[in-house]
Amino acid sequence: MSGIGHLAAGFAAKPVAPQAPLWVLLAASETNELLYFLFTAIGVEQKVVTTMDFNQGVRHLTSSSNPWSHGLFMSIVWSVLAAGIAFLVYRNRRTAGTIGLVVFSHWGLDFLMHSNLPLFFDGSPLVGIGLENSGPGFIFITLLDLGLIAGGITIYLATRKRKTTPVNTRSKNQFSITR
Ligand SMILES: [Zn+2]
Repeated sequence: MSGIGHLAAGFAAKPVAPQAPLWVLLAASETNELLYFLFTAIGVEQKVVTTMDFNQGVRHLTSSSNPWSHGLFMSIVWSVLAAGIAFLVYRNRRTAGTIGLVVFSHWGLDFLMHSNLPLFFDGSPLVGIGLENSGPGFIFITLLDLGLIAGGITIYLATRKRKTTPVNTRSKNQFSITR
């Protein structure tokens, strides 16, 4: 339930939250997806089975809605939780808030893409624009994904040049200067 466009939020967030390593921000942007893999592995959620063709877009062959990984309510919970953990690690409100927003951005993009995101848990209304559910919509969301990832990487690269010290020369005691 994911497009590459999600990662754009992680790349674009780097200049706003320079304290956080890029991999943390990229992982944050795919939190819902990582939870989906975890929850399907332990049996809390069912695997989503879909077919795709360019006439019809994506068709879901299963009726599962994945409320723990992709519900609106739990996505807010995961975002707040991520921001809380980030605050404990980085002791910086902007970094923590940015990571929370990056986590939530996944749901926002999925809302455009899918039409079966539960508001709360099983049995609650399913929401989403569902661009993936038609041929033209699927092409649009794919182009949007590519545009987003290109934009995110551009922002990341354009703001990266200021940092000249390689990460691996950091001293063990974490007194590196990150500004
Ligand atoms: Zn997703």
